[in-house]
Amino acid sequence: MKTVNIAIDGPAGAGKSSIAKEVASQLGFVYVDTGALYRAIALFAVGYADQSEFLKALSNDECELELKYFGGTQCIFLNGENVTDKIRTPEISMKASEVSALPQVREFLLEQQKSIAKEHNVIMDGRDIGTVVLPDADLKIFLTASAEERASRRYLELEDKPDAPSYEQILEDIRRRDENDMNREIAPLKQAKDAILVDSTTMGLHEVCEEIMALVEEKLDRE
Ligand code: C5P
Repeated sequence: MKTVNIAIDGPAGAGKSSIAKEVASQLGFVYVDTGALYRAIALFAVGYADQSEFLKALSNDECELELKYFGGTQCIFLNGENVTDKIRTPEISMKASEVSALPQVREFLLEQQKSIAKEHNVIMDGRDIGTVVLPDADLKIFLTASAEERASRRYLELEDKPDAPSYEQILEDIRRRDENDMNREIAPLKQAKDAILVDSTTMGLHEVCEEIMALVEEKLDRE
């Protein structure tokens, strides 16, 4: 039976994961955070001083990634170790943006992402889901917000944590990642021609979820 696939792309900090998680739970779909796959490869890559050694290890299948779900929450395992929390640091964010520009890395993850979507009804979020990974997705959303708003949301999430970065630092990181992700040669971040643009700059999380749920229902009712 054909599965239902929803793609959500957009820049860092636009709220893709919170929204996709909520919508997936309302629909009973599997939520796939593809950024976590790139982040886990970045964590693998930091173990190598040399890029060619890292790429050799990748092509020798020394980087085994596995997604597991516990009560709907995605966890990622790198060579058997649960690295779900370890990959959420500013250093790994930047490293993920760097390694994700490498063709070998994108190739390595492409089939894995496609096959999850073939087996399950999914909401998959990332940068190239609507353009490259699932070009035939049933619904494509491009979720964005101004860089300042995205930085401010991230700042509020982090401000109580020890060593929390400043707003200016977060804004600079976001701008650098946007720049990398939009200007790389392979699978750059861009809105697919048939994606619906949702700009959440002045919208709350609940409002965005409602708008996306309405788009999903409209789409699924029609089919
Ligand atoms: O979504 P998240 O911010 O966790 O992604 C981390 C990085 O992984 C992004 O900045 C981007 O460079 C890369 N990525 C990608 N393609 C995807 C998902 C993430 O290039 N589909």
